[in-house]
Amino acid sequence: MSPVIPIRAETTTGCTDVTPLVQRGQREVFCGLTGIIWLHRKIQDAFFLVVGSRTCAHLIQSAAGVMIFAEPRFGTAIIDERDLAGLADVHEELDRVVHQLLNRRPDIRMLFLVGSCPSEVIKLDLSRAAQRLNQIHHPAVRVLNYSGSGIETTFTQGEDACLAALVPGLPSMNPQVPSQTKPQLMVVGTLADVVEDQLRHLLEQMNITVNFFPPRNSQKMPAVGANTRFLLAQPFLADTARALQDRGAQHLPATFPLGIEGTTSWLQAAAQEFGVSPLLFEKVTAAPKQRAEKALAVHRQMLDGKRIFFFPDSQLEIPLARFLNREMNMDLVEVGTPYLHRQHMAAELALLPTGTRISEGQDVDLQLDRCVEDKPDMVVCGLGLANPLEAQGMTTKWAIELVFTPIQGYEQAADLAGLFSRPLRRREKLAA
Ligand code: SF4
Repeated sequence: MSPVIPIRAETTTGCTDVTPLVQRGQREVFCGLTGIIWLHRKIQDAFFLVVGSRTCAHLIQSAAGVMIFAEPRFGTAIIDERDLAGLADVHEELDRVVHQLLNRRPDIRMLFLVGSCPSEVIKLDLSRAAQRLNQIHHPAVRVLNYSGSGIETTFTQGEDACLAALVPGLPSMNPQVPSQTKPQLMVVGTLADVVEDQLRHLLEQMNITVNFFPPRNSQKMPAVGANTRFLLAQPFLADTARALQDRGAQHLPATFPLGIEGTTSWLQAAAQEFGVSPLLFEKVTAAPKQRAEKALAVHRQMLDGKRIFFFPDSQLEIPLARFLNREMNMDLVEVGTPYLHRQHMAAELALLPTGTRISEGQDVDLQLDRCVEDKPDMVVCGLGLANPLEAQGMTTKWAIELVFTPIQGYEQAADLAGLFSRPLRRREKLAA
């Protein structure tokens, strides 16, 4: 028997009280315009018109890759020298471009004017432009605006700004409609269609009716009101959540649906709120859980005990670190996030090992120094850092793939693990 009586029982709150290493300096991140790439695939009758410079057009083209050849639903209205010199009325020019665009693409039902650094710097009032254009083109097309500029937004925050702009226009729940007198579930955040279908199926098997926001069709926006309970499917939706709460909706705190544990407790938050019996919950989730367990085992062999370092990118880093640590037995060296929203991240932080080094924001040179000194087995970072780090002998995982690939839910758990095990396997093969 131990002669020492512990004064306080060991706490199990993980990183709940963590003080992140906050750094502000040079950053290696995308701006919010990049969100257009996945948002335009989701809302299939919307068009995203960036009001910006050639730089913005180049960014979107390189991020979209081959997609630009498929007549996509995004483009850039370029602010040129005449606009900047005040020789042309920018609002008139914009009206003309929008008119041309809508004539050419009658399938468009929703148009987003997306602000950029140049449009912000010249103080172009896009909300006024959106209101004016809306009056002209409504009801055939709804015109909205949000900012995806690098001054205001980092990468996935572009989606947050877009969804937050949609919230005030969502229809109100009507207490006269019988189906809207009871609490309803809304899942918030862009998910690949295949993931959305799977999660919908699981929730419906538990007799929970669910709406997804954003929807696939701009004409089918979900209603919102005091009976709305919402689950966040993505961790970067602070403004959207606030806007929904302003409309009376209630947030259900949960982990994010990454990996078996994350998906189970995410579903559980809904199940508890909607009074689903533990028996039914178990019945619905048992088989997909089992399939996922089996599929994960293969990747665990490769990832077990490996040390991972996250550079900040998408705000997905903390839930990913939780999954890799708890389900794949990886050790966390540093978990960087562009922004830490403590409330939305509370359930995730509680599951991280106490003492994990969490950093918020970035001073890229200092972070690179830490990374080189720590010598992790794997580095998660953007494309700008990946090849230089590979050249130094490190194994890297491009962070952007984690946003473009369907990774949520049980069926995708192994695909998610595969994104991390593959670069390690590749390095092993090359070394052999
Ligand atoms: S919005 Fe700003 S950061 Fe983004 S591409 Fe345009 S100029 Fe660059």
